[in-house]
Amino acid sequence: MADAPVDFSELTWRSQFVERMPGDPMSENYTRRVSRITHSEVNPTPVSAPKLIAWSGQLGAELGIAPATAPDTISVLAGNRILPGMRPYAYRYGGHQFGHWADQLGDGRAITLGEGMTPNAGAYEFQLKGAGPTPYSRRADGRAVLRSSVREYLCSEAMHFLGIPTTRALSLVATGDPVVRDMFYDGNPAAEPGAIVCRVARSFLRFGNFEILTAHEEPELLRILTDELLREHYPEIDSNGEDRYGLLLDEIARRTAHLVTGWMRVGFVHGVLNTDNMSALGLTIDYGPYGWLEPYDPNWTPNTTDREGRRYRFSHQPQIVFWNLTRLAEAWLPLIGSEKRAEESLGVFQKTFGDVYSSMMASKIGWTESLDQNGHGEFVGELFPLLQATDTDYTIFFRSLAQVSIDENQEDENLVRPLLDAFYDRDQFERGVRARWIAWLREYGKRSREMGVQPESRTRLMNSVNPKYVFRNYLASRAIEAATAGDYSGIDRLYRVLQSPYQDQAGMDDLATKRPDWAKTAPGCSMLSCSS
Ligand code: AMP
Ligand code: MG
Repeated sequence: MADAPVDFSELTWRSQFVERMPGDPMSENYTRRVSRITHSEVNPTPVSAPKLIAWSGQLGAELGIAPATAPDTISVLAGNRILPGMRPYAYRYGGHQFGHWADQLGDGRAITLGEGMTPNAGAYEFQLKGAGPTPYSRRADGRAVLRSSVREYLCSEAMHFLGIPTTRALSLVATGDPVVRDMFYDGNPAAEPGAIVCRVARSFLRFGNFEILTAHEEPELLRILTDELLREHYPEIDSNGEDRYGLLLDEIARRTAHLVTGWMRVGFVHGVLNTDNMSALGLTIDYGPYGWLEPYDPNWTPNTTDREGRRYRFSHQPQIVFWNLTRLAEAWLPLIGSEKRAEESLGVFQKTFGDVYSSMMASKIGWTESLDQNGHGEFVGELFPLLQATDTDYTIFFRSLAQVSIDENQEDENLVRPLLDAFYDRDQFERGVRARWIAWLREYGKRSREMGVQPESRTRLMNSVNPKYVFRNYLASRAIEAATAGDYSGIDRLYRVLQSPYQDQAGMDDLATKRPDWAKTAPGCSMLSCSS
């Protein structure tokens, strides 16, 4: 039996990263450009009135950490108290933003407290987001508003329960201090409540941590940092092997291919896939203006900043993460040694993505047979224009497709009935594309029967990959509105339902419904801005 969980403040802390890597020689906390370091030690700036709003009981239980109740513990999660063994720091990193090299970025509002030795799962990095300014804050305040913190907290956990690699979130603390933001970028800044999320991951290293070193011609440090990544996080790769850097890039390419396939499966749009928001461990990282597809639209992006170019639109994500991997390959070229070898790693992405995407798509419609044969791929491709024609809810559609009969003798009426609720544009269905939908469903049934699909195993497979509950922006927005008024029950309820996204849950159907009309254009529901 596992030992009783310990209080967060009773964890043993170490600061291996800070001890091993070259840090900033300056200790004053002011905005600056740095060189020849991987991080700057900096303490969180205390806040006035920390209050715990939410605690991820699931993550706590996995790690062996008891729910925080003592004010002294909550003050650690707010950045007001530093424990022995912690040496808080902000990472130095750069990144390509919207396709252009942005040079130094760094943790402008995230501060790693240290590596906590969790009773159940070993060392994890605990990082406070919104903990105050660092040398990388540029002109910003280092803080985060409640609205963006609720979104990060809930979505990190939701992503994990969907089975998609992600950084986690342990706690959400209100700071008691106002934070001023111009939410609509329209020159009307307003004060909002501030908050801090305690994020948890094995490491928060990003592509950009490596890119900045090559961009600034610091090859020695590039090797030191990459060796640290290898040793600590990729122990399966021989750290003395000649091809270790190539193998490392292969593995990151593989993980990234799985990651983006997971997003495409559940209809997640990250929204800001800059290289500084790409994890060196293949995790989803930095939840900002993300969104979940509601009416299927391959061109949709939730990010207002990206409205013109739609660089980070849903359907473009596989290409974009490939582009980002190419930037990482360039950054590591001095270590990998040959362009040919780096290209092989990029090929690993293409190959892995091709394979896992195709089997993922097949599983969404209840098939185990590869889409590469019998024209299946082409047939599945015909589904997407149909989804678009009727403005079909991506989540509800695939969940309901499991209810559609594959029996040859099914009446048209009965065939389509389970899907009707998924259509935002019922008119379009009735007037325009009903016949095309029925033809597609008949063909789907025929192909399913031909490959010997059993109704029961089909439903089981589909319900294990097509979630019923996803963290829709309008649900987030409702919970945030209540939380801003001091009512946190909406956050708790969402947290509970999102823990089992593939399971029908009694009394929770209102959290699995289509986006209501009011949310179509409401701020925070359809479009969001960066860095709030
Ligand atoms: P993001 O768009 O959240 O990925 O952030 C891009 C960069 O801006 C990172 O270097 C962040 O640390 C920095 N940043 C975003 N918001 C703030 C803030 N409120 N204060 C300081 N730095 C910030
Ligand atoms: Mg970021």
